[in-house]
Amino acid sequence: MATPRDVDEVRALVRDARPGSVRPLGTRHSFSPIADTRGTLVSSAGLADPSDVVVAPDRASARVPAGIRYGELARVLHAKGLALANLASLPHISVAGAVATGTHGSGVRNGSLATAVRAVEFVDGTGELVVLRRGDAAFDGAVVALGALGIVVALDLDVEPGFEVAQTVYRDLPLDALLDAFDEATSIGYSVSLFTTWREPDVVDQLWLKRRVDRDGEAPASVLGARPSPIEMHPIAGVDAASSTPQRGVAGPWLERLPHFRLEFTPSAGEELQSEYLVPRATAIEAIRAVRELALDLRPLLHVTELREIAADGLWLSGASGTNAVGLHFTWVADQPAVEAMLPRLEERLLPLGARPHWGKVFLADAERLAPLYPRFDDFRALARTHDPDGVFVNDFLRAKLAL
Ligand SMILES: Cc1cc2nc3c(=O)[nH]c(=O)nc-3n(C[C@H](O)[C@H](O)[C@H](O)COP(=O)(O)OP(=O)(O)OC[C@H]3O[C@@H](n4cnc5c(N)ncnc54)[C@H](O)[C@@H]3O)c2cc1C
Repeated sequence: MATPRDVDEVRALVRDARPGSVRPLGTRHSFSPIADTRGTLVSSAGLADPSDVVVAPDRASARVPAGIRYGELARVLHAKGLALANLASLPHISVAGAVATGTHGSGVRNGSLATAVRAVEFVDGTGELVVLRRGDAAFDGAVVALGALGIVVALDLDVEPGFEVAQTVYRDLPLDALLDAFDEATSIGYSVSLFTTWREPDVVDQLWLKRRVDRDGEAPASVLGARPSPIEMHPIAGVDAASSTPQRGVAGPWLERLPHFRLEFTPSAGEELQSEYLVPRATAIEAIRAVRELALDLRPLLHVTELREIAADGLWLSGASGTNAVGLHFTWVADQPAVEAMLPRLEERLLPLGARPHWGKVFLADAERLAPLYPRFDDFRALARTHDPDGVFVNDFLRAKLAL
């Protein structure tokens, strides 16, 4: 593993590289083999100094080092009275790694984390430092880039004045009523996540509402008959809620409410695998019903399913490219063969509905099945060949999923 400390060290590494011999790495939180290589991993950990975060004079953007974790970046911004629009469920991931895979939080009007990127700076496969800004022709291809174009060293992100969020968890929602009123339910606040174990296939275990105190009204007394939980919850009912961010309507800073998990705790359920399919909003209800039909077979393999809505964007390889999307997420037990035996059954139902697999989570579809899901698929492949003509960043994952 190499841990370059500045752009010159990154350039030196890439200039000496052979085809397939280097691969950028963030905080290694992906479940797919997207960051694997038989060559040298280039860690972003040396490009993660919080003192390198520079806020623009107009306080509308900040230049951040690629390897900084969202949790640390959030603390720096919060100390300056600023905020990011959204965060993923955990604050432990690096900015470059999260953006590269299209990582998202929730909210009908919130795009994925990559939509906050204004500019991306990377050392491409020829050793050149490339800067692409929003509005540049190739920019929309270069943000969710799967580490295929180069090693990102810094990004400019949109920031905004800090805000407070209050979180309320509702328990036991009737699934059919929820599907009939899906837009209303997912629009009751800034960010809404639904969690269910399918133990009772007709009931969704929890709805997590994150309200912006400066914009949203009061939390409703009930949602589709479900009442607020009087106790703090973990997304998996019954698991100790100590790692969860504060709930019960108590307002707090954005960085302590937008993620589901606290930075100081090991995230989620510990030993696990994850898969997620981002389904166009137009077919999402059909997709959720298709998953419910598999409930009996899913249950033994599953810690929990999370459903979230993500606003459309124009990024070529984003799961929400060109459409509002609903993420159907599965936190599995750590049994890779059993999960991989289940995935064909999920994919044969979901892919025909336009579902795009999360690049950082476990999925099976290959380039042939993925290409029709992304209108700019071939444009991305051409962009990758322009910036990495010798394929120094190409690994087995990129060969299988993008035919690079
Ligand atoms: C507990 C848990 C919860 C999660 N919750 C969410 C969630 O809420 N929403 C969601 O969408 N996803 C979620 N994920 C998935 C996770 O956000 C993604 O897998 C994300 O990519 C991980 O970031 P990372 O820094 O660990 O990247 P890595 O896994 O290290 O790398 C991912 C990709 O980014 C590339 N990359 C990394 N650094 C660079 C760089 N400097 N330059 C160029 N390319 C780079 C790598 O080559 C690789 O292709 C979760 C994962 C875990 C473990």
